[in-house]
Amino acid sequence: MMELSKQFVSLQAEKRTCEKHGEYTSSLFTIPTSGEKAWSTCPTCMQEKIKKEDADNVRSLVEERNRIREEAKREAMERVLGRAAIPPRFADRTLESFTTELEGQQRVMRSAMRYVNNWQANKKNGTSMIFCGRPGTGKTHLAVGIIKKVLEMGDTAMFTHVLEYTRAIKQSWADRNELEVIQQFVSPDLLVIDEVGHQYGSDAERLMLFDLINARYMAAKPMILITNLELNGLREYLDERAQDRLREGGGTALVFDWISQRK
Ligand SMILES: [Zn+2]
Repeated sequence: MMELSKQFVSLQAEKRTCEKHGEYTSSLFTIPTSGEKAWSTCPTCMQEKIKKEDADNVRSLVEERNRIREEAKREAMERVLGRAAIPPRFADRTLESFTTELEGQQRVMRSAMRYVNNWQANKKNGTSMIFCGRPGTGKTHLAVGIIKKVLEMGDTAMFTHVLEYTRAIKQSWADRNELEVIQQFVSPDLLVIDEVGHQYGSDAERLMLFDLINARYMAAKPMILITNLELNGLREYLDERAQDRLREGGGTALVFDWISQRK
């Protein structure tokens, strides 16, 4: 109000009463822009109005800031998910959305939760897992759910398909950067490899896969191998040494032995 009375020359003053704040001095002044005359209103009302406008401004600024932060967080998560290379079809899968109607589903879910809850130890010990069972039983879903939990804990994780990996390695032979390419598959804290031992699996692929399993073993980094083979089939497919590597650090195999849930 001090500001106002300095700006506007008061012509006349009288006592007035505000319904809310009681008596105040109202001044008659000339509005400089229009030359019209007006009586000043209750100063307390005026202050309250200004305060409310300030609060509204602060509120909308805070809201705007929070919105930008949320957006940045989402974008950062999307970038992390992008680096994790989760197939678009499985992008929205989480542990929470995994169906646990059947006893077997509950069993693998409990193991997945245990793996996530003990992630720090599993990361340190390089504890791996094998998911085996028929297509459509949710192996990839569960693995993607684990990847997301690992990402949420601030660690790195990556999803790959065995063909994607072998293709990258074959390409690296031409580009002469095999070590660099292997390193890309070794550096994430957790690596999930899907479709191990698929029907086109060749001896060369088995060798390349062993190289990767060995490289991650040497770096004490865990991995999840997904296969449609049965456990015995996988044992036949994987090199003895690879199996030993996977068993090190207390690795476990989860058997997805129910009928496909895929419609
Ligand atoms: Zn008032």
